[in-house]
Amino acid sequence: MNCRHCHVPLTHVFLDLGFAPPSNAYLTEHDLHSPETWLPLKLYVCEHCWLVQTEDYASADALFSKDYAYFSSASTTWLEHARRYVEDMRRRLCVSKQSFVIEVASNDGYLLKNFVAAGIPCLGIEPSASTAAAAEALGVPVLREFFGEALGKRLAKENRQADLILGNNVYAHVPDINDFTAGLKAALKPGGTITLEFPHLLRLIEEAQFDTAYHEHFSYLSLHTVARIFEQAELRIWHVEQLATHGGSLRVFCCHHSDSREATPAANKILQAEEAAGLRNLDTYRLFQSRAEAIKHNLLLFLLEQKRAGKKVAAYGAAAKGNTLLNFAGVRPDLLPYVCDAAPSKQGKFLPGSHIPILSPAALNKYRPDYVLILPWNIATEIREQNASLREWGGKFVTAVPAMRILD
Ligand SMILES: [Zn+2]
Repeated sequence: MNCRHCHVPLTHVFLDLGFAPPSNAYLTEHDLHSPETWLPLKLYVCEHCWLVQTEDYASADALFSKDYAYFSSASTTWLEHARRYVEDMRRRLCVSKQSFVIEVASNDGYLLKNFVAAGIPCLGIEPSASTAAAAEALGVPVLREFFGEALGKRLAKENRQADLILGNNVYAHVPDINDFTAGLKAALKPGGTITLEFPHLLRLIEEAQFDTAYHEHFSYLSLHTVARIFEQAELRIWHVEQLATHGGSLRVFCCHHSDSREATPAANKILQAEEAAGLRNLDTYRLFQSRAEAIKHNLLLFLLEQKRAGKKVAAYGAAAKGNTLLNFAGVRPDLLPYVCDAAPSKQGKFLPGSHIPILSPAALNKYRPDYVLILPWNIATEIREQNASLREWGGKFVTAVPAMRILD
C-alpha cells in the first residue's frame, strides 16, 4: 500500500487492532442471525509526510454505503459548540447576509441552522439521506453528494463559490484527502476562508487515544501533515486554534496561497510542540502499540474483578470509539451486559462485533449498576451530569482510556 497523500510505500505499522467490523454498523435483532464482516484495523505511518492512515482493503465503499444512524444534534455539547462557532465566524470573518457559506458533511443541520436563523445564505453537502432530510426540515438547503474536486469545480462553474467553507470532523474521514482538498480549493471564493476541525494526532499519541481508530476514520492528522497537504493544493494555513472537542482537536483557518492575509504565530507554536513530541520520529510511533495493549489488559482485569466480586457493570455511549475498544479487548455481554445511549435511533440495536444490546438511559435506574463504563470519554462530563441519579445507589462512573479510572 502507498501513502494516500504522497504515494510512497507504507512500511511502518503504528497500531494493529486485529480485525473489527465497521464501527458504526449497528445491528438489529435480525442481523444477529447473519454472518458479520470483520476487516483488518491497522494504521500505518508514512515516514515521508507523516500521515497516519488506515490500511486499504477491498470493497470499503460497499461496506460504508449503509445509512448510519449518527445525528449530530443528539449531543447538546456539540450543538453548543456549533452555535458558538457560527457566532465567532460572523464576528471574526464578517460573515453576513451578503456571504455564502458551505458546510461539507452538514449532517442533520446542527450547525447551518444557525446561519439560516441569521438570514445568511448557506448550503450543506451531505450524502447520507436520513440526516440530509433532517437538515432540510430545518430549512437548510442540502446537496446530497460526496464532496471532492469534481463537485468543487462544479460549484465554481455554477458561480457558487463560498466565502466560508467549513468541515467539522469530515477531513479525517475522507478516503481521498488530496481530492477533497482540491475540492476545497475549487469551491473557495478569492479572499474566502476554509475552517476544518479534526482530532489532533499529538493528543492521540500523548493520551493513548487508540480507540479513536476505526475504519471510517482514514487519516490521523498532525498540523505538519495538514500544512503539507494544503500546500500541495495551493492553499495555506493562516491561523490555528486548539479545541477540547473529541479529546483535543485543531481548527485550522486556511485561504488561497495568494491571499494577502498575514499568518498568526499560532501555527508555528503547534508545529514546534509536534516536533518536540517526536511526531517526525519513527520511534514515537513504534511505542504506541504496547500502550494500547496495556489499556486493553487493564479494562479486562477490571471487568473480571467486578464479575468475580458479584458487582454489576454497564456501559454508556454506543459510540464508534467504544466499539473499537470493546472489540479489541474481546469484551462480550457476559462481562458487559448492556450499553445505554440517549439516541433513540440506536436503542434496541446491538453493538457491532460485541453484540452488546443498546438500551435507553432509563435502564440505569432500573438495573442500578455499581459501575458505568463511559465509552465516549470525550463527553464524560455531559454523560455524568445527565445521569447524576447514579449517586442515589452509590454507582460510580469509570473510564478505560487513557487509564482505568474510577471517577469520584
Ligand atoms: Zn506520505
